[in-house]
Amino acid sequence: MGVLMKKNFHPTAEEIYDVLKKDFPCIGIATVYRNLDQLARSGTVIKIENPDGAARYDGNPEKHYHIKCLQCGRIDDVWTDIDINKHINLKKIVRGFNVLEVIISFAGICDECALNKH
Ligand SMILES: [Zn+2]
Ligand SMILES: [Zn+2]
Repeated sequence: MGVLMKKNFHPTAEEIYDVLKKDFPCIGIATVYRNLDQLARSGTVIKIENPDGAARYDGNPEKHYHIKCLQCGRIDDVWTDIDINKHINLKKIVRGFNVLEVIISFAGICDECALNKH
């Protein structure tokens, strides 16, 4: 899954499949999904859930956030030392659960889209 090692690249399973197909013409999409699932479970890759589309995968398992451009759909990495979870008083917000994680993602308009609007 060397495809995923490219920096700042967050492909969908189908995009990974398209790349792999060139080198391994016999590979099936089900194999790609299965491998990605395994890698995500073992923590080698991050699966980025995407409520309005296909999930994306990230070859960098270090803790970071993602921002999605609402216009062109591109996904960029957001690196910060700030542990955003620490700034949220979960006990105050969620009752009846022991919250183990909060999945945070950002959305906005990227610079390129901002420049291209006429
Ligand atoms: Zn954009
Ligand atoms: Zn990322």
